[in-house]
Amino acid sequence: MSGLYAREGRSVSTMAHLRFFPLAAVGGSGSYLTGDDGRRLLDFAASWGAASLGHSHPAVRGAVNRALSDQAGASYLSSANEPCVQLAEKLLSLVPERARGRVWFGHSGSDANETVARMVVAATGRPRILAFSGAYHGGTVGSMAVSGHPAQQGIRAAGLTLVPYPDSFAAGSPEAAKEAALSHLENLFATEVPPQEVAAFFIEPIQSDGGMLVPPDGYFQAVETLCRKHGILLVSDEVKVGLGRSGRFHAFEHSGIEPDIVVFGKGLGGGLPISAVVGPEAILNHAVAFSLQTVHGNPVCAAAALAVLQTIERDHLVQNAEKSGKVLRDGLGRLAARHALIGDVRGRGLALGVELVTDRSSREPATRQTALTVYRAFQLGLVLYYVGVRSNVLEFTPPLTLTEAEAREGVAILDEALADVAEGRVDETILADFAGW
Ligand code: PMP
Repeated sequence: MSGLYAREGRSVSTMAHLRFFPLAAVGGSGSYLTGDDGRRLLDFAASWGAASLGHSHPAVRGAVNRALSDQAGASYLSSANEPCVQLAEKLLSLVPERARGRVWFGHSGSDANETVARMVVAATGRPRILAFSGAYHGGTVGSMAVSGHPAQQGIRAAGLTLVPYPDSFAAGSPEAAKEAALSHLENLFATEVPPQEVAAFFIEPIQSDGGMLVPPDGYFQAVETLCRKHGILLVSDEVKVGLGRSGRFHAFEHSGIEPDIVVFGKGLGGGLPISAVVGPEAILNHAVAFSLQTVHGNPVCAAAALAVLQTIERDHLVQNAEKSGKVLRDGLGRLAARHALIGDVRGRGLALGVELVTDRSSREPATRQTALTVYRAFQLGLVLYYVGVRSNVLEFTPPLTLTEAEAREGVAILDEALADVAEGRVDETILADFAGW
């Protein structure tokens, strides 16, 4: 354990910690972090996708410097500011027609989803909300209330109903997963959840924290049809997998659907805290002073977000996510041929997951081996975390700027880490302080 990590242990609360290994970073550039021991670490997590352009990107630095050198206040609660308005205009131009109304700004995916949850119920007068089992929509009281991730220590909303996310690997095929998930939903509508009481369905176009689950073809189109039929608002949580990460600008595009409300966070600020909700005016203008925190809409974070969106366009980062993502995915696929621990490789673009199992036919989760693998990868120079309702899915959300060479470098490190774990070369006691989730 490094000096910085130990000092942190004596001064900083652990309540926001989700630690997998003792990483203490002192800097970073592009796809690499610098550890306080001087090591360069290839970052396949990008702070859970928040560092969308990598670390110290010149466009973000320039935008932040300009915004701070003539600062138009620190908030949009009681005054308009140019970066915020420009960012709203830009976001409106990027969403489907039915969501093109108004934009609300927050700090995080959590406050954005919490705002949506309160707003849709208030605006429609319908008391119920649907979301997926395994869904992570945030860590505040109101966003946990509409989530379904088992690791969360919060209370679900009285009006929440969780429905299964179609899991093709667990079900044996995409078709089987789709049929089961849809019939569950239709049955709910016919019985205990009257659809006319449902305000909104929060969807994850790829269920990232729940295990990087990719929906079967046609599943979300069927969900969209049901929502339209019953006047249920479709809310796409693009917080982790949106803004180019999936190889399309919006992750919902892969499913051929058009949500009513789109939620952005994480990568929007390129490392700075900003989130956005985009949706119809009648919903987004439901009431004034309805959801506000003092430095919401601050011009510094809004300027960073504008720079992120401009850079994604200018540097063709959606295409890069597709291209480098293919190299990464192909490399992971080759590892699957050699490592019995790998049960499934899935995802889209640079939102990828590798599910580890102790036995491919029974698909028993290799939970301990997953924790050991990310720890060993860290020792070897690669930062990645794991997700999944059974804590056995390696998650890949590197910067959108990732090069093909970096993708290959990371695969080579992971190859070594997996071999070390499978052959018992990693001391299990290292996990004592790293419960992960
Ligand atoms: N939505 C999704 C899909 C997420 O993955 C997360 C974070 N893991 C959130 C919302 C909440 O974002 P934040 O932690 O930045 O508030």
